[in-house]
Amino acid sequence: MIKGLYVHVPFCKSICSYCDFARCKYTSSLADKYLTHLEKELSEIKQDSFYTIYIGGGTPNSLNEKQLEKLLEMLSRFTVEKEYTIEINPESFNREKALLFKKYGINRVSIGVQTFNEGLLAHMGRKHTNFDVTNALKYLDEVEIYNRSIDLIFGFITQTLANVITDLQKAVRLNITHISIYDLEIYPKTIFGMQRYEKLDEDTCFLMYQTIVEFLNLHGYKQYETSNFALGKYQSVHNKLYWKYEDFKGVGLSSSSKIKNIRTNNTSNFVDYLNDRYTETTTRLSDEDIIFEAIMMNLRMNEGIDIKEFDERFNCNILEKFHIEIEKNINKGLLEVKNGYLKTTNKGIFVLNDILVDFMK
Ligand code: SF4
Repeated sequence: MIKGLYVHVPFCKSICSYCDFARCKYTSSLADKYLTHLEKELSEIKQDSFYTIYIGGGTPNSLNEKQLEKLLEMLSRFTVEKEYTIEINPESFNREKALLFKKYGINRVSIGVQTFNEGLLAHMGRKHTNFDVTNALKYLDEVEIYNRSIDLIFGFITQTLANVITDLQKAVRLNITHISIYDLEIYPKTIFGMQRYEKLDEDTCFLMYQTIVEFLNLHGYKQYETSNFALGKYQSVHNKLYWKYEDFKGVGLSSSSKIKNIRTNNTSNFVDYLNDRYTETTTRLSDEDIIFEAIMMNLRMNEGIDIKEFDERFNCNILEKFHIEIEKNINKGLLEVKNGYLKTTNKGIFVLNDILVDFMK
């Protein structure tokens, strides 16, 4: 059984300066066309239930009420066993959309907040205000959807450690169950990339990251993945499917799927998508690919890799196969083996990509 379904909605009211996702400016007519083709793609799915559905973007709630209902209606043929998430941006949210979420069984909402500093929001090219965030939470209160996550970012050149702490203080005062906080990355094709924007240096970002981890753990938000923190039972079920290297299906522009040893990437080209040429590449993963990808995803989680389970699932004794790489990173204080798990240390989790380079064979 494929456990997770991801649905991509590429529209946004405006484009943020750092954004590298597959997205474009919302127009009602383009969104209508897109939904028609998304429906066709969805109709090819044989399975009728998933553990989780995740509607991401882009900004799914940039769709107008009629379009949003159409999207949720077409997804209503699937039973969602555990978690049904939608991403929203505060400026495009209202009571009617919250009521639609409730009507169609959405039980988790991920809100793009990024910062509570309105000067910094403008610097990022974002259009919402703190008032919009308060309203979005109020609408979710009204429909009793209490499993809410917010996204934050750090690493902007104008940001200080004090700014980051203020963001965290404001975040934990909200009635939210989950926080995702990302270290800014500058990609060449983004607005910042083209402006040759320089983010804060690595040492300052590492100091910020350490402060974030300490602060959130102290306030009950337990870190369970490089960038993710949750109260109690509220870890993201859908994202954990990726990190545990389970199978998932993606639909929509630029989405990807992994089903057994086949990875499929959809096109990022709008014209192709609107001509029903969804799939761009299909790759058969070798055993070595699968082992590397499973390591890469599993090490993102604080719990790390269950060594025995990994051996049973992938027929690979990781401690033997990668003993040189593991020992090297243990000696650097970046990896550890503890209670049957191979995991990153607090220092290692921030430089995971450097560790993974060693595992690439
Ligand atoms: S709202 Fe999200 S997807 Fe849209 S441009 Fe901004 S960061 Fe990108």
